Amino acid sequence: MTVQELTHFIGGEKVSGKSGRFGDVYNPATGEVIAKVPFASRDEVKEAIDAAEAAFPAWRDMSVARRANIVMNFRNLMMENKTKLAEVICQESGKTMDDAEGEIMRGLESVDLAIGAPQLVKGEYSVNVGGNINAYSARYPLGVVTAIAPFNFPIMVPLAQTSMAVAVGNAVILKASEKVPMTALFISELWKQAGLPDGIWTVVNGDKTAVDELLENPKVHAISFVGSTPVAKIIYEVGSKHGKRVSAFGGGKNNMVVMPDADLEQVANSFVSAGYGAASQRCMAISTLVAVGEGTADRLLPLIKEKVEALKVGPASENSDYGAVISQQAKDSILAAIDKGEAEGAELVVDGRKAPITTEGKGFFIGPTLFDHVKPGMYVHENEIFGPVRNIVRTKDLDEAIQIINDHELGNGVTIFTNSGYAARQFTTEIEVGMVGVNVPIPIPVGYYNFAGFKASRFGDGHMFGPDQARFFTKTKTISERWLKESDDKEMSFAFPSN
Ligand code: NAD
Repeated sequence: MTVQELTHFIGGEKVSGKSGRFGDVYNPATGEVIAKVPFASRDEVKEAIDAAEAAFPAWRDMSVARRANIVMNFRNLMMENKTKLAEVICQESGKTMDDAEGEIMRGLESVDLAIGAPQLVKGEYSVNVGGNINAYSARYPLGVVTAIAPFNFPIMVPLAQTSMAVAVGNAVILKASEKVPMTALFISELWKQAGLPDGIWTVVNGDKTAVDELLENPKVHAISFVGSTPVAKIIYEVGSKHGKRVSAFGGGKNNMVVMPDADLEQVANSFVSAGYGAASQRCMAISTLVAVGEGTADRLLPLIKEKVEALKVGPASENSDYGAVISQQAKDSILAAIDKGEAEGAELVVDGRKAPITTEGKGFFIGPTLFDHVKPGMYVHENEIFGPVRNIVRTKDLDEAIQIINDHELGNGVTIFTNSGYAARQFTTEIEVGMVGVNVPIPIPVGYYNFAGFKASRFGDGHMFGPDQARFFTKTKTISERWLKESDDKEMSFAFPSN
């Protein structure tokens, strides 16, 4: 098998890596190296930033309608190339085809919103705020901005981070995840075909070295980061210290609260799909089912166990329910988490280490694992496990469930299943989590609503998609203007101007 050498995408061209450093890109479903990705040096990133900065003024000055048209062309090209793009995603991420196509469509919601950018960046205008003075505020693009992306959504997250940034007139640099760089390079060609001027869309590939330059270079004005919580915190601190606007999204440990009156068949289906889909490598995956009240968990367990044991794990080509995890290292840490859960006394109901997986030992597959009687403080409760290891926690009432969730460090998503409007209202009011569902498995907002968690799931005040993106990637100028007649009074006054 040939291992292709990937490039960066700078100034509208593929540019080979010059640092001499490369990373391996795997097909997680086979465990084979399929490509080498260049790791940019700081000087290479500097050159990319300079090219983006040079391209920025012409893009800023283009009419908002023409910019929106180019974003629309890009959307059309994405649809024309949907199957090819999904294949690239499957190849480098280990996802199933359904899942890859699903993430393309969800990512396109951000592009759709960006096509409407002219509506979102409209300013305000007041006449006669003082003698012959009118005032207005208007939004201007920031200049060079950057997105640093995770591996688990090779297309949806980068589109959510960048579409609006492009549409409102910035020059955008994407530092794709070094584990899934092929998707970012694929869409770079589509941006070019769509008519985006060279230099407005850049992909620099690399690791911490590339990120350090983006964090510290004074020509970069905003950073959108999505990844794990420890890295999100560093990005927020370092980026802010260097005077940048930073919005950094971290991990999740998301709960599904089940009240005794819920429809248990609906709950079981929702928990298994939202818990194990994409091998649980979703920041909004359900990690823990919190069964409320006497007997709820006991009634649910047989339903869930049967469905979990029936999950088909394997490559995209085999019509699997979920595929491989991203790397051998990820697989090892997930297996270690199962060991810790057992050692700490959680009850192992389904053991993924023993699941029959028919790939002859190839690829980074793990069977689904389920723990019952999990308690706060246990490793599997406190930590985001980015793999198919899920928990059941039992509580006596809703207050206890809310307390346990609010006490957790992370607060990305949460959902409640109930037929009681009162319980749902108490829950949505008291829960300290950014995205909340009622009788829905995964409460990811649609693209035209703002997306962000609370607590250590997000640093900074920005949202990832939704209208807030237009605010995050623009700066507001407020302009007061007066035009005098020749004959008007032009006296000098030292009083502080008041009206
Ligand atoms: P990661 O933090 O390892 O990497 C994310 C990005 O940061 C990559 O581009 C990587 O190259 C870079 N990076 C890694 N270490 C760095 C360092 N020390 N300094 C500078 N840059 C560094 O995350 P991942 O494993 O790629 O993605 C999975 C994580 O992302 C999970 O925790 C998941 O919950 C989270 N995630 C969150 C959201 C959200 O919306 N909150 C969405 C998707 C994924």
